[in-house]
Amino acid sequence: MAVAIQTKTVREGSTKLVVPEQDEPVKFPTFFNPKGEYVRDISIVCYNAFASSRKGTLVFADSLAGSGARGIRVANEAKGFSTVILNDISSTSIDLAKSSVELNNVSEKCKFSKKEVCSFLSLRAESGGERFDVLDIDPFGTPSPYIDCGLRSLKDGGLLSLSATDSGVLCGVYPRVALRKYLGFPLRTEYSHEVGMRLIFGLLAMTAMRLELSIEPLFCHHDMHYFRTYSIVHVGNSRSRQNEVEIGFILHCFKCGWRSTVSRDDVFFSKEKDSEKCPSCKSSSIRVGGPLWIGKIQSRDFVEICYKNSRMTIFEPESDLATYYDLSEMTDIMGVRTPKIMDVITNLNSAGRSASRTRLNPRAIRTDAPLPEIRSVLKELVR
Ligand SMILES: [Zn+2]
Repeated sequence: MAVAIQTKTVREGSTKLVVPEQDEPVKFPTFFNPKGEYVRDISIVCYNAFASSRKGTLVFADSLAGSGARGIRVANEAKGFSTVILNDISSTSIDLAKSSVELNNVSEKCKFSKKEVCSFLSLRAESGGERFDVLDIDPFGTPSPYIDCGLRSLKDGGLLSLSATDSGVLCGVYPRVALRKYLGFPLRTEYSHEVGMRLIFGLLAMTAMRLELSIEPLFCHHDMHYFRTYSIVHVGNSRSRQNEVEIGFILHCFKCGWRSTVSRDDVFFSKEKDSEKCPSCKSSSIRVGGPLWIGKIQSRDFVEICYKNSRMTIFEPESDLATYYDLSEMTDIMGVRTPKIMDVITNLNSAGRSASRTRLNPRAIRTDAPLPEIRSVLKELVR
């Protein structure tokens, strides 16, 4: 039975969207999150950058479309997409999406589907069984149940964009749930959001390898409790072997903050065995996170194109070094005030160190400088 709901029209980017009058998901069978506009703005930049690297016209699938905000914006604002398929199990959501599609005159591009998500991804009836060029999976909570059918539904070289909102799980509040949903152990550290991101990429890569596929991360960011990743999916075993060494562990010393990554390959196939003591403070306070993704979590070329096209600060250049240092947390422990982040970066750079900001935390830096050196720069700057 159709449920009558009050609707309103809002504008996002250059797209008009018919959405429920109230934003509360609890009372209504469909949902639109107005705070998602910024995240969807970022998506459009990413999809445009991806489409500009591909020949021909592309098929986009919005697998958990809700009232269709992301998919309809792709149909209206992104270039290169000939077909956008909006799937949602709720009739109310699809009815709203249909109204928005008409309002934006994109009816020719848009197709609708009302299926459970894995059934939609497996059958792909709306594209005549063809695999998708771009797939978005944007669930409440974890995307874990949809990874297998999502990966299988993409063409070779297709793009998978994925959201996760279970930040408590990914950041280490519920480690047993993380082991079940992401197959890896999280770490409650100053860079727990990065660990969470690497758990998502890790699950993607480990699932891909099982299916003789592989992934190549392009970009990721988080906004409060909302994690977003963008990855290219490749078909075939050759790149799967590369993914093997990009799965590993993060070792973190909870006494002094020392950290390092080690590949699964090295753990299981190397003859040398690492000592269990922290190489920095010699304590036995090292904990292991993972298995997770220890490779790059961005493609610099892709991020550069996104920055050039949008000038959004989220796409500013960033180092590939794993794990960041939260300067506010460090200075809190040291009992000094926090200097300007750019001064810290400049000082480290002039000492010959690599150092950059990170889009995963506005108060943090990535650097190859060891901890004592970062501390002495912080002290020097507030003296
Ligand atoms: Zn230590």
